[in-house]
Amino acid sequence: MTFSDLNLDSRVLEAIDAMGYEYPTSIQQHVIPAILQGRDLIATAQTGTGKTAAFLLPIIHELVSVSAEDFAVRALIIAPTRELVQQIDQQFNGMAYFAGLSSIAVYGGGEGGDWERQKMSMIRGAEMVIATPGRMLSHLHLGYLDLSKVRFLVLDEADRMLDMGFHEDIMNILSYLPAKRQNLMFSAT
Ligand code: AMP
Repeated sequence: MTFSDLNLDSRVLEAIDAMGYEYPTSIQQHVIPAILQGRDLIATAQTGTGKTAAFLLPIIHELVSVSAEDFAVRALIIAPTRELVQQIDQQFNGMAYFAGLSSIAVYGGGEGGDWERQKMSMIRGAEMVIATPGRMLSHLHLGYLDLSKVRFLVLDEADRMLDMGFHEDIMNILSYLPAKRQNLMFSAT
């Protein structure tokens, strides 16, 4: 199977080419068609298998295929750590380059200016928000981020988030999302 067999938008294929990916990995071959069919899914995938691209590529495809207001948040990714949020955001920037989509990375434990920067980005908006649960919730409580247009929710390393005690925070975040959405859950175990 090649990436062209997956019916992805030409702007996504251009980014795949620029990143030098030749063939979809096994998880990508399974997950990308399921997401494009609009299905909810639970997948087991370790880091290093290409799982980030497995959810980012079809989401980017959908975001560019359906017209919507610029900077309305249409995808939310929740991940357990600051490092993982930064890695996902980095991959998103490469993959969404030709699609012209923007993202906000939201995490705690950084420098003092991070909070204000994240808040200003949220007020401006972006198509994709990638966040750790606790910091996401703190921003949501303050009311300047509208998640009512979210179509995709990704819980990455969901098992680890539960181990870290984030269950209540995640359930709380879900209460800000519309009921009609696609849910994608990834766990290492
Ligand atoms: P991940 O499992 O998402 O942490 O990805 C591991 C690494 O594999 C990342 O550096 C990706 O850029 C890279 N990668 C993802 N998909 C592919 C692919 N189809 N071909 C080559 N490298 C890939």
